[in-house]
Amino acid sequence: MSPFIKDSSVQAVLEAANIVDVISGYTSLRKRGVTYSGLCPFHQEKTPSFSVSADKGLYYCFGCGEGGDLVRFLEKAENLTVSEVIKHLGERYGVSVEFEEGAGPDTGRKDRDTRLFQLLDKAAVFYQRFLWESQSGSAAREYLEKRGLGREVCNLFRVGLSPDEWRGLQRRAAKEGFSDRELEDAGLLVRQGGKTYDRFRGRLMFPLVDHRGRVVGFGGRTLKDESPKYLNSPEGPL
Ligand code: ZN
Repeated sequence: MSPFIKDSSVQAVLEAANIVDVISGYTSLRKRGVTYSGLCPFHQEKTPSFSVSADKGLYYCFGCGEGGDLVRFLEKAENLTVSEVIKHLGERYGVSVEFEEGAGPDTGRKDRDTRLFQLLDKAAVFYQRFLWESQSGSAAREYLEKRGLGREVCNLFRVGLSPDEWRGLQRRAAKEGFSDRELEDAGLLVRQGGKTYDRFRGRLMFPLVDHRGRVVGFGGRTLKDESPKYLNSPEGPL
């Protein structure tokens, strides 16, 4: 159990903190155009493949694939939880950190991200099953066959099919205990005028994965004559 930091404090701390400053304490960075580069603090190397973008507030290593924002950097480098990182940065930058009333479980960003990764992975499995096992998947299966895409290669990329219904995925996810809010954060649900519906309907689904192979979103290709032909997940927390 650790205290729950107010969102406004998290925001204030992150605005005050300077990613180049902080990371310079771990490796020496040299300005190269709009980014800074240096030797990666997370793996052994002789030529710099680690870069930091001050305006984006992000770092990335082309050598080992480690990347993220300042919070992630300190989580990794110092083995801290998100709350600890915020407290640490608050002290360093003189921003006072306020806590929510009472001490609750640390349902911080890390927990939310874990839930979203689970949800997206389950969605990928659901779409895959729907493609190969449902009656309504036959048109899509024929389409793939015509394109010379066998089941094996499709499974390799976890290609799936979203049901051509307004709430196919939503109903399924609700049964598994996921909220509409989580579906929305995962980019799978659209909320419009108080109504919610599946973002992807009747589309061939291509999972987009991060450097660790985790599903972070989807690209969906329509099988009908409609625009847009391709639909991607919106930018989300992940
Ligand atoms: Zn690295």
